[in-house]
Amino acid sequence: MDLHFTPEDEAFRAEVRAFLDGHLPDHLRAGMQATPTVFVEPDIGREWQAILHAKGWLAYNWPADCGGTGWTMTQRYIFEKECALADAPSLPVLSLKLLGPVICHFGTAEQKATILPRILDGSDYWCQGFSEPGAGSDLASLKSKAERKDDHYLVNGRKLWTTHAQHATHIFCLLRTDPAAKPQAGISFILIDMDQPGVEVRPIIGLAGDHEVNEVYLDDVVAPLDNLVGDEGSGWTIAKFLLENERGGACHAPKLLSDLQKLRKAAGQEPDGQGGCMADDRAFMTAIGRTELEAQALEMTELRILAEMAKGLPPGPQTSLCKMVASTLRQQVDGLAVRLYGYAGLALEEHRPLYGNGAPEPLRDKAAQVASPRYLNSRAWTIFGGTNEIQRTIIAKTVLGL
Ligand SMILES: Cc1cc2nc3c(=O)[nH]c(=O)nc-3n(C[C@H](O)[C@H](O)[C@H](O)COP(=O)(O)OP(=O)(O)OC[C@H]3O[C@@H](n4cnc5c(N)ncnc54)[C@H](O)[C@@H]3O)c2cc1C
Repeated sequence: MDLHFTPEDEAFRAEVRAFLDGHLPDHLRAGMQATPTVFVEPDIGREWQAILHAKGWLAYNWPADCGGTGWTMTQRYIFEKECALADAPSLPVLSLKLLGPVICHFGTAEQKATILPRILDGSDYWCQGFSEPGAGSDLASLKSKAERKDDHYLVNGRKLWTTHAQHATHIFCLLRTDPAAKPQAGISFILIDMDQPGVEVRPIIGLAGDHEVNEVYLDDVVAPLDNLVGDEGSGWTIAKFLLENERGGACHAPKLLSDLQKLRKAAGQEPDGQGGCMADDRAFMTAIGRTELEAQALEMTELRILAEMAKGLPPGPQTSLCKMVASTLRQQVDGLAVRLYGYAGLALEEHRPLYGNGAPEPLRDKAAQVASPRYLNSRAWTIFGGTNEIQRTIIAKTVLGL
């Protein structure tokens, strides 16, 4: 694998940097730096989305004939890396990275024409209705059902851990359409408008005090037959495609490396409690160095997967490796931040958001204020998108053939 970027790629990197310098406002950078959750709040997310949409750089992981940028895999990677280094707000992953590619791949011409533009211009904001009580790791045991009536499906059930359902206009769901079929064969992928009677969103407050996830109750909810994506009963195949995109084809390493760089820099200023600074603490700096090495190794693996995808191959089950390693490293990096900031990082600020007018004053600095909520929040990394145990099983069975 040639790890050197071509002159064209270097030119692209310079173009992205120049764009970020000129168009990413300071308040959005500050918002991202002060966000403890995985998803950013819609206020900063929408503003950044609109800026990228106006530039035509939003749907960079969609095929060009669906409104994608037509970038190479290397360009996508460069873009994500530069955005991470610049602290650009993360984009609405469920709409853009998960549902968008599904619609491009499995959707009808009409679904592409109606759904994709409304994702891009921010009219619609989607959440993901897969998990249920008793159906997380064992997703195929899900019970929420969609009964086919004359011109619609009648949906009943309950979805759990639904991220940002409180902000969403729509939910894409896995629903049982054939209770008699084998568990995986009787599932369909159906789109639901949240703004209708029978849809109820109940908040779940996380460890750090953030409202990120919810329960969604679906009680005699109506979905027109046109809202079925793919064939009836093909929901499992679509879910596998989506989960591969969720777990991989993503660039986790750039953000991890950028956060580690910041910790390294801050270590030169943070007191170590013994008259020096944390950069003098050999145990701490060794931990930073080790984590950096692992993040660099992850970056190589992510680049290898992107190289495969550039040849037209799907991201594949090895993306489980990336998801698992990235989740573990995320927790390590956030743990290192708590260690770095000591007392200043221990206070658990409950007020949200931690940026903008009305944000609480930090004890010492903003990065320290975000450290504890971020640490608590990132415990979820090894759970969502499939737990580390489930990723290990996938790696063992599908990659290693054990
Ligand atoms: C912050 C957050 C956001 C989320 N957002 C969404 C969302 O937007 N939409 C959505 O649909 N879901 C979402 N989820 C749900 C997530 O996908 C599930 O929590 C996850 O798949 C685990 O399922 P579970 O919670 O039912 O745990 P369980 O499956 O009950 O697992 C409990 C424990 O048992 C272990 N375990 C289970 N089965 C096995 C096995 N076969 N072998 C070994 N160990 C096993 C697990 O690893 C885990 O440690 C979110 C979860 C979190 C925490």
